[in-house]
Amino acid sequence: MTADLPDFSQGAAFVEGRYVQASEARLSILDWGFTRSDVTYDVVHVRDGGFFRLDDHLDRFERSLAACRLTPPHSRAEIAAILERCVALSGLRDAYVAMVCTRGRPRIFGSRRPADCENLFTAYAIPWIDVIPLDVQARGAHLHVASVPRIAAASIDPTVKNYHWGDLTRGLFEAHDAGADTAVLLDSDGFVTEGPGFNVFMVRDGEVLTPDRGALEGITRRSVLDLCAIIGLPARIAPLRHEDLLQADEVFCTTTAGGVMPVARVDGHIMNNDAPGPVSLRLKALYWQKHAEGWHRTEVNYAAAKT
Ligand code: PLP
Repeated sequence: MTADLPDFSQGAAFVEGRYVQASEARLSILDWGFTRSDVTYDVVHVRDGGFFRLDDHLDRFERSLAACRLTPPHSRAEIAAILERCVALSGLRDAYVAMVCTRGRPRIFGSRRPADCENLFTAYAIPWIDVIPLDVQARGAHLHVASVPRIAAASIDPTVKNYHWGDLTRGLFEAHDAGADTAVLLDSDGFVTEGPGFNVFMVRDGEVLTPDRGALEGITRRSVLDLCAIIGLPARIAPLRHEDLLQADEVFCTTTAGGVMPVARVDGHIMNNDAPGPVSLRLKALYWQKHAEGWHRTEVNYAAAKT
């Protein structure tokens, strides 16, 4: 770190054209991203100095932007360069890297028209986060099936990454009150959707299954489906009900911020002698092995991106 640069070791952010320490990054309280959750975002991880599936995350971010009619003032290539610069400035080899586009503020004071707003792009790289802590992953997470239903997909499209977390947050409080680690939400017809920050999988009679509705099309979920194809494990996207979850041989969760995260209990149902199951552990190991082999890797150029 040179003397004239701030200490970015706890994260670097890009806000209004400047790179600042992540802890110092600020947005206006008048930004509709804050007042209306009028925002979309994506999160990619850096593992051992390389982005994982960066193009897939940028593709999804572009689809989310289009769905929300948001236009950041940067091209895709510029966004990729900003993300790399945030990582490079931080020096982090393992990082959680977010790209965010908020509606911003109306150019005409008092306008209620979304099209009048100046959209804002922000980004940041912060130290690695595990959505389910590593010690909990090791013993197998305890999932609580929340009573609050996932917000209707016809109202808020769950395939567009969003900050409408009211239902997920209520689910988390319920789970913690019940002594569980985290929650999974059903839709109002009783089908399994997803949890706060992750997709859900189950293994039944040797087949790997993940819900077909109410969920983000997770990049980690896609990776798991790819890995199943590589090792010849049958896998399917299917409608899954609450009772399927309770009768599963194994359950695991997937996310960019944690990878494949095994589950040992769903409500009162205990699986695999209260420990992570063999298929979950195999996929988890393979996921990280493939990372180490350079699967879908984009190298971070730490030296060049800082200049
Ligand atoms: N579902 C929700 C609601 C999420 O917020 C996330 C990730 O943050 C996921 C699923 C997992 O998606 P990915 O594997 O792309 O990180």
